[in-house]
Amino acid sequence: MTTQCPRCHSTAVITKDLARKVGALIGTVGGAAQGVTGAMAGAEVGAVIGLVAGPAGAIAGGMAGAILGGLAGAATGCIAGAKLGEVIDERVLDNYACLDCELSFSCRHSA
Ligand SMILES: [Zn+2]
Repeated sequence: MTTQCPRCHSTAVITKDLARKVGALIGTVGGAAQGVTGAMAGAEVGAVIGLVAGPAGAIAGGMAGAILGGLAGAATGCIAGAKLGEVIDERVLDNYACLDCELSFSCRHSA
């Protein structure tokens, strides 16, 4: 499907995807923070188990848990943020920009 500019009917139209990019960024940071927080609880359990293996085992277990939790949270948050941003792009913002007359418009107005 080709999107046409409602003013000059040019097909040289790009999508800005601004909210999607911002949403993915916020989701990544928020998800990472949440993932680390969750991993901390897991790290404590790991540290207790690590006491059996010695202090080095507790530190290594805790670090691994926090890093893994952060990465998993960041990936999940990035996807969720991007999805949310996509909805905002489509329904709220003028996601399309005409390269010929520089008009910004949303898909609601396109033919
Ligand atoms: Zn145009």
